[in-house]
Amino acid sequence: MNKTFIMLKPDAMKRGLEQEIIKHFTDDGMTIEKSNHVLVNEELILNHYKEVIEKVTIVGFKERLLREFVGETVAIYVLSGTEGIIERVRELVGPTEPVKADKHTIRGKYSQDSYALAADEDRPVRNLIHASDSPESVIKETSLWFD
Ligand code: ATP
Ligand code: MG
Repeated sequence: MNKTFIMLKPDAMKRGLEQEIIKHFTDDGMTIEKSNHVLVNEELILNHYKEVIEKVTIVGFKERLLREFVGETVAIYVLSGTEGIIERVRELVGPTEPVKADKHTIRGKYSQDSYALAADEDRPVRNLIHASDSPESVIKETSLWFD
């Protein structure tokens, strides 16, 4: 399956970065299979981040995610390309904490946010984009967000 799923988060949308970020993937040779804008509700985001909510031990993390996403618009995409596209997209996106991300990655180029600053402001770290991390996540997330 040479496909992956990405979501541009509210911080990217509010900053008008959608087209600029997507260009990183098309310039890398990937094709946009489908895309949409979605107004996020509580059920969608809790389902999307179910495993993360179980994993992250920060008190109030779930409430922070809800405040960040519910009622906001995100952009969803399925990208296709060559074998290894899931890993390649995550390489282009960069690590979770933008302050640790290389300047050539999307998170490193467009965000300076850190876990410390996010905790101070009682919100999740703003890293602009989500990218699926396994074939199983691609299937789950594509059907969750597109259907
Ligand atoms: P994503 O799943 O959004 O692509 P990721 O795979 O790099 O990001 P995950 O561990 O899956 O990272 O965490 C999901 C999201 O939850 C992160 O992108 C970030 O917004 C938030 N998050 C995770 N850990 C923390 C943390 N320690 N402090 C603040 N926010 C966090
Ligand atoms: Mg993740």
